[in-house]
Amino acid sequence: MDMENSKVIETFSPKETFELGKRIGMEAKAGSVYTLIGDLGVGKTVFTQGVAEGLGISEPVNSPTFTILQVYDEGRLPFYHFDVYRIGDSSEMDEIGFEDYIYGDGVSFIEWANLIEDIIPKHHTEIKIEKNPEKGFDYRKITITEL
Ligand code: ADP
Ligand code: MG
Repeated sequence: MDMENSKVIETFSPKETFELGKRIGMEAKAGSVYTLIGDLGVGKTVFTQGVAEGLGISEPVNSPTFTILQVYDEGRLPFYHFDVYRIGDSSEMDEIGFEDYIYGDGVSFIEWANLIEDIIPKHHTEIKIEKNPEKGFDYRKITITEL
């Protein structure tokens, strides 16, 4: 990994992770793609909820695990929230028009993007969230890398 393009933020509560997401949402540009990498329950959705608020979306954002994609149009930019946890393989993404979204003018956030690595555009921002049991139950290390 190229450390020059990475920054590490540590959070100690869901609120802090939400606030970090909110900041990203406020700054996000049209057409940008973000991937969220991390185990179940690490905070990918909490982060995404912050992003949605930062974009000016007031309706509740939950994990779209059973629908793969949730589209929110009420914010500053269209927001495409993917959760590909239950995807079999990348070809299933064609069916929902994945490329039209990620190469469109909205902001795309993809939870479990590592499962469809082969169809993620080269230029994107990776957000990796990790726990560390030694640092407490609510500790998260969040590494943001521009790729
Ligand atoms: P994921 O989408 O990665 O499966 P969720 O965002 O749905 O995970 O859930 C994360 C859980 O971890 C929530 O219950 C949240 O309250 C809890 N949590 C505890 N500490 C943190 C933290 N620092 N950042 C984010 N979530 C945290
Ligand atoms: Mg989730």
